[in-house]
Amino acid sequence: MRTPIIAGNWKLNKTISEAVTLTTALKALIADDTDVGVIVAPPFTALSAVSDAIAGSNIHLAAQDVYWEDSGAFTGEISAPMLKDAGCDYVIIGHSERRQYFGETNDSVNQKVKAALAYNLKPIICVGEQLEEREVGQTEAVIESHITGGVAGLSAADLSSCVIAYEPVWAIGTGKTATPAQAQEVHNFIRGLLTKAYSAEVASQICIQYGGSVKPENAAELMAQPDVDGALVGGASLEAESFAKIVLSFNHQLDSVINVKARVDG
Ligand code: PEP
Repeated sequence: MRTPIIAGNWKLNKTISEAVTLTTALKALIADDTDVGVIVAPPFTALSAVSDAIAGSNIHLAAQDVYWEDSGAFTGEISAPMLKDAGCDYVIIGHSERRQYFGETNDSVNQKVKAALAYNLKPIICVGEQLEEREVGQTEAVIESHITGGVAGLSAADLSSCVIAYEPVWAIGTGKTATPAQAQEVHNFIRGLLTKAYSAEVASQICIQYGGSVKPENAAELMAQPDVDGALVGGASLEAESFAKIVLSFNHQLDSVINVKARVDG
């Protein structure tokens, strides 16, 4: 069974002290007994302090972007060894806001994914269609280009260190969530693409998160979909209570899946 991963993308929010306060509150709320993976992605400036704050807990640290060179004359950029040094285990790559506002392309995503993997950072590769693309029936073509471009040249072992986040752009920060059925359809399509490119076994092990206005009220029904393995959460991750409720609703869902399975098996 795939372990669901819930990641909070804090975007351009939180000073260092605010980030530590949020992390400390979150730690207290989710304790250490959760069966889901939990990740927080603060801005670069707060990575090191949040790394200290999560020490000894089940929360992992992610950065929101990475550059593909290790060092050199690249003003403003941050490299994979620097993120590793700051305590990161994961890095978000190809978020739609980076594609939309900062010129991220499938090629740059692919270079960043390879740089992250070279330093044992697990990439969370974001893919997703815009509203106009969905409306003209291009969802699958866009997702296919994001996936094949993003993972180009990766071995099966490399891919198994990656997480995919399906985030329909029209659902990010808009309050509009994809219906569970819409999310499942695209997640299943992504798993099919990975099956074709690798194998059914490899594809079945990849965690595919859903992102786009996930809230405590809709997390459980999204999680109930067979190919939805967690969530990438923006707005609702900025407050400890709402993020903890999402984490715990995935956790409880998992408990009931395990209980049902135990009853069926036993
Ligand atoms: C995101 O930025 O990845 C995201 C899903 O944001 P929100 O939850 O606010 O829609």
